[in-house]
Formats: sequence, C-alpha cells, structure tokens
Amino acid sequence: MARRCGTQRGSKSRRSWLMGVVLLAIVGVLFALAEPTHVVNATSSLPHEEWLKPDVQGMLRASMRKERIRSGDNIIAVLERLGITGDDAYRVVRAAKPVYALNRIRAGHELTMARHDGDLDLFYEIDAHTRLHLRKEHGAWHAALAERKTSSRRMLAAGVIHDSLFESAARAGLDSRTTMNLVDIFSWDIDFARDMRDGDSFRVLYDELYDDEGRLIATKILAAEFINQGQRFRAVLFTGPDGREEYFTPEGRSMRKAYLKAPVKFTRISSRFRLRRKHPILGFTRAHRGVDYAAPMGTPVHAIGDGRVRFVGWKGGYGRFVLIQHVNRAHSTAYAHLSRFARGLHRGMRVRQGQIIGYVGMSGLATGPHLHFEFRVRGRAIDPLTVKRVPSRPVPKSQMARFKQQSAPLLAALEAQPVTMLAWE
Ligand SMILES: [Zn+2]
Repeated sequence: MARRCGTQRGSKSRRSWLMGVVLLAIVGVLFALAEPTHVVNATSSLPHEEWLKPDVQGMLRASMRKERIRSGDNIIAVLERLGITGDDAYRVVRAAKPVYALNRIRAGHELTMARHDGDLDLFYEIDAHTRLHLRKEHGAWHAALAERKTSSRRMLAAGVIHDSLFESAARAGLDSRTTMNLVDIFSWDIDFARDMRDGDSFRVLYDELYDDEGRLIATKILAAEFINQGQRFRAVLFTGPDGREEYFTPEGRSMRKAYLKAPVKFTRISSRFRLRRKHPILGFTRAHRGVDYAAPMGTPVHAIGDGRVRFVGWKGGYGRFVLIQHVNRAHSTAYAHLSRFARGLHRGMRVRQGQIIGYVGMSGLATGPHLHFEFRVRGRAIDPLTVKRVPSRPVPKSQMARFKQQSAPLLAALEAQPVTMLAWE
C-alpha cells in the first residue's frame, strides 16, 4: 500500500493515521474477499451488502455514507450533501491538493464518508487502481493516496450458437465487451454478419479483472476457438519480450491478415488523398478521397484482400466501379474508372486477395488511364497510403520457444471441460 501525505504530523496523530490506514485496509480486504456469486455483467456491480461479512455489515453501514457525483457537480456541492460545509469543505480541498486536485472529480464516481469516534474519513475512488483518502483529526484534514487492490480470475466459457452470437455468448457467461473482443480476434477469418451458421461453436479462455469493490474492470482473452461451418479457427495470446501482446494461431501465424500494398502495378501516383483540391475537369474544389495510380490501359486490378463484391457497375463520375467489403467488415475498398470488369464478377460473390477484379481504364470523369482507389473504414474514406500496415508477421524464430511455452498451457486449458471459474489469482 503506497501512501503520500500532504502535511507534517506529530506522533499521536501518526498513530491515528495508522488506524485510518488499517481501517481502509480492512475495508479493502473485505471488498476483495467477497466472492461474486454470479458472473458479473460489465456495467453492474454487486449490491453493497454482498461485499461485506454480516458481522461488520451493520457496524460499517451505520457510519458510512456514499454520495455519487452527478454531471455538472463540483466538489463543494458534493461535500455539502455529505454534511461538510463552509470553511470545512474548503479545508478538504486544500488538504487534498498536494496529492490530488479535487476539481478533477468525475460524474459517476463516488465520495464515501466514514465516521467513527469523532474522526472522519473521506474516500474517493480516482480510478480502478488508486483511491484518495482524506482524514480529519482534531479539526485538521490530511490527505494520502492509497493503492486499490485488484483481483483477477480465470474463466472458461463455451457455447453453441443457435440464435445470435451475442445471445449465445451471454448465456455462456461472456459480457458483451469480451464477445466483441472475440469477434475482433477472428474478424480476419470469419465474416460474423454473413458466415455464421446454426450450430457454430466457440470456447474462450479469459481473465476477468475486478477492482476492490467487486466491479468488473476489464477482461482479457488468452485463448479462443471458433468453429464456423465445420472449420476450426484457434487463437492464442502471446506476450513478447517487449510486453507487446498479439494473437497468433497455435502454429505462430498472425491472426491478422495484411492487405496488398497496392491494387495495381502502377507507374506513378498521379494524385494523392486530399480533403480539398481543384477538380481537373469540374474546375471547382472538391475532396479527393482516394489515390490515383497511373497505369497503362488494361493493366489488371487486384482485390487487396479477401472479401465480397458489394457493387459492380457504372457509378456516375467513378465510371466502371467495384466496391469490395472485406472479411473484416469495418473495411471496404473501392476501384474506379475501370475499362472493363473481370469476367463473371457479380454482386455478392467472394473474392480472394490478389484476384483480378477488373482492368485499368478512364471511364467516368478521368483525364487519362488510371485507377482511382479508395480505402474506407466503416464507410469513411481514409488515405490509403497511410493505412497502418497491419502487422501480420508470424512469431519470430528467436521467440518460438517462448511462444510454445506460453501457448501450450493456455491451449490445454481451452480444451478443458467448461466450468464457470478456473482460479482466483
Ligand atoms: Zn482519383
């Protein structure tokens, strides 16, 4: 427990201080010891009564008061609701200042007051890891920061999908954030909106992190399996020597797939992404939401990643136009001014990375043969040349022993019979 104090104290008040810290520690331990009786949802927390053992419940309840900070609140108003008024409220703020500026209190957080034997304690939960402790002794306020103890437990969830993934996952005990992370891990292999089938199944090994009041702060997936239309996908988390975490297949391949650097063998980039530019034909200033690759007429144009054709046909100034939605559904790419489409290309069909989808031309509004290429994230065009190159490198050979050592127990645990709780840490 780390603490820093804002003021000098004598030995007598140091003793009282110590008592305050001990009380704080007891409260913290009680919170930490209270076992959640069911899987806790991401936003809810256990009723206060359940954190505390019955014998101390009454005692603490009698002397503790909580005040929730509302939006637009200021610390003086909150203190007033707790009965700390006038000069005393300002003394609280001044005492706290060396360790924490109380004007930074945030809506939704709580200020807790505990009264015992004429002494007064105030606790403010700054974040999941730190608590501000204010104590009034002989009319003077003292402040210190205290570390909050977090606890984690390892969980294994498994389920078969019959309705929606989110509903099946919730029945298996997964909160929605963890389910979203699960979708994210496999989003380069499985199109969750289109490819899911009744009877698909999943297994997830993950850690839940709780604060000392039993609230779920975060979860982390350690290993996961998804069986989609009979095809099995597995992922395992690897922490590199630099602390970086990334998901790999059990063989050490990255779960994320890179896109091709460019959809065409081009001679030069004739126009870059710009939010405003003077249009060479229309004359007025308008945004250029893609990159123009100059290339000879008829040069093959390739899909930069796996996906599905969402549009193929004539589209105004774009001319002959192809839009591909990638397996990672947030991403789509657009290809314009084509001279012709690849034979048989049609809406809804699957395309593979590198597959030829059409040929360079100058259909629509174009001054010469080039490919106008757009990269869209959730429908919004971003500069294709600044698309962060997805790191899709496998586990380096030098790290393979470390990877196997980390992944073997996680993958073994993933195969275990699903139980609600594996271990407290
Ligand atoms: Zn263009």
